[in-house]
Amino acid sequence: MTTVFDEVARRNHEQVVFAYDEVTGLRAIIAIHDTTLGPALGGCRMWSYTDEAAALRDVLRLSRGMTYKSAAAGLNLGGGKAVIIGDSKTHKNEMLFRAYGRFVQGLGGRYITAEDVGTSVQDMEWVRMESDFVVGISRALGGSGDPSPLTAYGCFEAMKASLKWQTGNESLEGRTVAIQGVGHVGYHLVKLVVQGGGRVVVCDIDHDSLKRVSEEFAGVEVVAPERIYSVPCDVFAPCALGAVINDETIPQLKTNIVCGSANNILADEDKHAKALEVADILYAPDYVVNAGGLINVANELEGYNDERARKQVGGIYDVTTQIFRIAREENTTTHMAANTLAERRIASIRRVKDTFVRQPPRRVMRHVP
Ligand code: NAD
Repeated sequence: MTTVFDEVARRNHEQVVFAYDEVTGLRAIIAIHDTTLGPALGGCRMWSYTDEAAALRDVLRLSRGMTYKSAAAGLNLGGGKAVIIGDSKTHKNEMLFRAYGRFVQGLGGRYITAEDVGTSVQDMEWVRMESDFVVGISRALGGSGDPSPLTAYGCFEAMKASLKWQTGNESLEGRTVAIQGVGHVGYHLVKLVVQGGGRVVVCDIDHDSLKRVSEEFAGVEVVAPERIYSVPCDVFAPCALGAVINDETIPQLKTNIVCGSANNILADEDKHAKALEVADILYAPDYVVNAGGLINVANELEGYNDERARKQVGGIYDVTTQIFRIAREENTTTHMAANTLAERRIASIRRVKDTFVRQPPRRVMRHVP
């Protein structure tokens, strides 16, 4: 039988907190994976998990992912995540999020929370009533607001870096980009590609989202969701769901590059990163490409500034290129190269932080009765 401690030990988490509050019915788990670089920042997901073990697995996996995302993005933040077990449509109220906020506050800043799937800016404002350690607050309260435009901008910069790496020319002029999902991020990405002179093919399962882009941007072509994989294009940008690069879709792809905002694009990270490489398709690692949202909220920690956040997100271009270089020099996949970049940064900063930590003990003498 796998125990809770086995699960925690498997990915080297620093701390896992189980938060229960009888009055509000709060059942939450906060996982702090690694704080070498700084406080663990990561969203709070609210989901009707089938059981507690599923919630624990999810929070442990997601918090570790945040460690890599922050490290690769060059932020001085560690990786953390929280899950609240419950139905986000029926189980939400002010008391629940304020109770959650008290647990976050109790961690004294080791974990900073934010919105995620199933939670909203409004929920974070309730958390903020009880905790100083929350980001993702509305612009009206001095926060960073909707992260989607900057997430799209980061994805666009990664796309340019990928084109430059592969063809020597980063311009979107005359290129075709197939975008899967034109929701918050996809919509802004369409805009950037069109402004850059590119041709765009899109799909979505939501009629209103498709109508919006078709009406706003002349020349955007719409295809059925199942056809998006086989669209001949320079870049395929998944901006809807995870696991869309898999055994079934890879043989259909007629693209040179995969670069999109969705999380966990590869169904099996090692296997499908390798399969893309074998198919001669350049893969821009998802967590590097979509770090714009994280960089945007992280800016709240130093007083949100639009211009500075945008400049920092623009750095995704260089990080993407650096990853391609590591992959080439070390003969590995781009996915592994991104992990290597993150791990090396954490290891080197850990060494830096070792300086002067070997302090003398607080008491030199033992008490002798
Ligand atoms: P969203 O929900 O606003 O948009 C997703 C769109 O995909 C919707 O319009 C939806 O109808 C469409 N969709 C769903 N299933 C589909 C399918 N099978 N085929 C085609 N379209 C489908 O989400 P978003 O905020 O735009 O985020 C998009 C992706 O980027 C998500 O995977 C998200 O986790 C990731 N991401 C977003 C941000 C951000 O700032 N919003 C940051 C980092 C990562």
